[in-house]
Amino acid sequence: MNLDNFKLNSQNTYSIHKKTVDKLRKVKPHQLDKLFHPMHEQVFSEIDCLHCANCCKTTSPIFLQPDIDRLARLFRMKSSEFVETYLRRDEEGDFVLLQAPCPFLGEDNRCFVYEERPKACREYPHTNRKNMYGILNLTLQNTLVCPAVFKIFQEISKEFRK
Ligand code: SF4
Ligand code: SF4
Repeated sequence: MNLDNFKLNSQNTYSIHKKTVDKLRKVKPHQLDKLFHPMHEQVFSEIDCLHCANCCKTTSPIFLQPDIDRLARLFRMKSSEFVETYLRRDEEGDFVLLQAPCPFLGEDNRCFVYEERPKACREYPHTNRKNMYGILNLTLQNTLVCPAVFKIFQEISKEFRK
């Protein structure tokens, strides 16, 4: 996957996708889920995350306490030591990675803590979750990070131009 092209395309299309979000706000929340969820399945059946890993390269998941405890156990560290080594608090007070790319990302784009990865990594990019209405802004931001979300938005934007 050419991530430089993706970056350029997603920035150039951002204003169109923003207008789509304005239209999506007028759709009933349960209808919105019906729009996103099949699109999520379709797009992820065509995209191989191992050819991308842009989320792991450029952003940080939030680490909840159970994530921290689980990963600390994996590294045979105390949770406080894990926090000190890998994490910081963001503006909202959540624990996030000190650095990007994620230190647990291998050169082959594989996550070497995959089985124990944070909940936020398991759920990213959240386009199959209930109540998409509540995360429209976050999802719009994710069009700049995730080629799958970008594709989902392109398809949905087409629907709204019909
Ligand atoms: S950015 Fe999206 S497509 Fe790329 S690896 Fe992450 S979830 Fe998969
Ligand atoms: S823990 Fe794994 S899945 Fe999560 S950001 Fe790091 S490399 Fe990616």
